[in-house]
Amino acid sequence: MAEPASQNTVSNTWTQPLKRSDNVPATADVVIIGGGIVGVSTAWFLAKQGVDVVLCEKGHIAGEQSGRNWGWVRVQGRDTREIPMMLESMRIWEGLADEIGEDVGFTRGGCFFTANSDKQLQSFEDWVDTARDYDISTRLINAAELGKFVQGSTANWAGAMLTESDGRAEPHKAAPAIARAAERSGAKVLTGCAVRGIETAAGSVSAVVTEHGTIQTSTVLCAAGAWTSMFCRSVGIDVPQLRVRGTVVRTAPAERLFDGNIFDHRLGIRRREDGGYTVAHTAVLEHPITPASFRYFCKFIPALLQELKIVKLSIGGEFVEEWKTPKVWALDKPTPFEKMRVLNPSPTPSVVKGIRRNLDSMFPQLANTPIVERWAGMIESSPDVVPVIDAVEQIRGFHVATGFSGHGFGMGPGAGKAIAGMLTGNDSGIDLTDLRLSRFFDGSPIRPQTSI
Ligand SMILES: Cc1cc2nc3c(=O)[nH]c(=O)nc-3n(C[C@H](O)[C@H](O)[C@H](O)COP(=O)(O)OP(=O)(O)OC[C@H]3O[C@@H](n4cnc5c(N)ncnc54)[C@H](O)[C@@H]3O)c2cc1C
Repeated sequence: MAEPASQNTVSNTWTQPLKRSDNVPATADVVIIGGGIVGVSTAWFLAKQGVDVVLCEKGHIAGEQSGRNWGWVRVQGRDTREIPMMLESMRIWEGLADEIGEDVGFTRGGCFFTANSDKQLQSFEDWVDTARDYDISTRLINAAELGKFVQGSTANWAGAMLTESDGRAEPHKAAPAIARAAERSGAKVLTGCAVRGIETAAGSVSAVVTEHGTIQTSTVLCAAGAWTSMFCRSVGIDVPQLRVRGTVVRTAPAERLFDGNIFDHRLGIRRREDGGYTVAHTAVLEHPITPASFRYFCKFIPALLQELKIVKLSIGGEFVEEWKTPKVWALDKPTPFEKMRVLNPSPTPSVVKGIRRNLDSMFPQLANTPIVERWAGMIESSPDVVPVIDAVEQIRGFHVATGFSGHGFGMGPGAGKAIAGMLTGNDSGIDLTDLRLSRFFDGSPIRPQTSI
């Protein structure tokens, strides 16, 4: 059926008018760059410990990846280096709404990775063994059992890997709610406030320069999502990172066919709190080639080989845009972060068509359900598809949390707890050694265990 033009009946954060906070404080214990789920969760944990924390976001809270993602909150299928932080995140999600007094749409409906053949089903065994090591109740189910969870599909599945305790949350609600909780605990959250750079004295951070004024501080966290590599480069730190565009749609409310998240070779689909479905194509990952693609090519070869079948390369406006962006800039003039308040890529029409086609053939009962909104998000990835959370050796007091590689929404609250521990020196119980930045430079093998 014909699709109506985009209808923003859900108030996605990036569609709202920009609120500019210019009341920049003169000092802070910690300044966080970036108001995605990682930045706001860290601010919340710090503020709860009484730390004087200021968060600066150039656009909207959750205006980029954290408000545009599929909303899956899953342990299933993760790289073992992420599992302890993800398990902690799950515990936080479970009690989050009660603790902050706001709905974030979290519910546990299970996560299904479907298999088209017995052979593919058996290939999930390795991860089921991993799950056992961490006391996670993942299991393989056959087609008959899958049919009890998922109604009305024409897919010829042999079965699925299922973690019933996995779930979902609503991206347009979660990070903004956590940001408000951080503010209630004493954090200052500034939006429309780009960080232009940092000042240093004797090799240590001494201040953060924002477009609205300078904040004296000795501790900075760069949680700038897809902008992290560019920001870090401007202060002389190399963070390998590339971007991949993901197109997503949501449907109008429709019949409840299942409750969880389904990953099939054609579609990623989950039920939404508003009764619709959030749907994406699983066989297309678009990488717009930029100068960074050449700079980091060698480090990304393993990830590229892994995603070879689904990565679609293109070259266009992004290449020119990045080419024209200076590597360093003066801090008393507008910077690239003010030029692009919100990274808002266009959804790819052919991908939307593919989603519609696959949805109609997999779930005929949804064939008359309109797609009411479509959008895209730039996923930022690290070379081994696992985040970097570290104190940077070259500048004392400067820290990085990035590279969540398409899995960071679910992990955000756990990451916030772990990062707050790193910044305060308090033990969060989450070991960050495997997530150090130096792994990309010290000769360690770069081995992705999972996909973006
Ligand atoms: C299409 C898509 C689907 C996804 N699906 C899932 C999923 O189902 N489950 C899951 O767990 N993860 C998913 N992800 C990944 C997840 O969304 C990200 O890993 C996560 O949101 C990253 O959070 P972040 O806080 O690190 O970055 P972001 O949310 O990108 O936030 C970074 C913020 O920093 C700000 N910023 C940058 N530079 C500056 C500056 N100089 N000054 C001030 N502010 C600055 C930006 O404006 C931005 O708001 C998906 C991502 C996309 C795009």
